[in-house]
Amino acid sequence: MLFVVAPIIGTIYAIARLWQDLIGWQELSLFVGLYSLTGLGITVGYHQLLTHRSFETFPAVKALALILGSMAVQGSAIDWASDHLKHHAHADEAGDPHSPVEGLFHAHVGWLFSAPPADRERYGKRLMTDPLIV
Ligand SMILES: [Zn+2]
Repeated sequence: MLFVVAPIIGTIYAIARLWQDLIGWQELSLFVGLYSLTGLGITVGYHQLLTHRSFETFPAVKALALILGSMAVQGSAIDWASDHLKHHAHADEAGDPHSPVEGLFHAHVGWLFSAPPADRERYGKRLMTDPLIV
C-alpha cells in the first residue's frame, strides 16, 4: 500500500515544490503524454489485444502496443494477461484474483499484494507460443 500511495503523493508534492524551477509545462506535457500512451498499452495492448483477442493487427503495431504496456510497470504481458484471464474465468467468485466482493480497495489494488500470480501454464499458454509476445 505504501509503495502505491507514496509515489503518487511524492510526485504531486515535487511538482508543486519545483514548479517553474525544474518542472514546467514541457515536463507536465511529457508526464501526461507518456501516462496516456502507457495507459493505451495496457487497455488496448495487454487487455483487448492479448487477453480478449478483440482484434488482430500488424506485428509492428502489436509490438508497439506491448512495449507501451510494459512501460506502465504492471508486469509482463503474459503475467498481466494470465491474471486477467483467471479473473474472467472466475469473475466475482472464489478464485477471482481481484474480485470486488472483497471490497473496492482489494479489487483495485489490494489484490496485487495478496493474490498469488495466475498460473502461466494454465491461463497464458497460448500467449507463450507467440514469439513476439515472449
Ligand atoms: Zn477483460
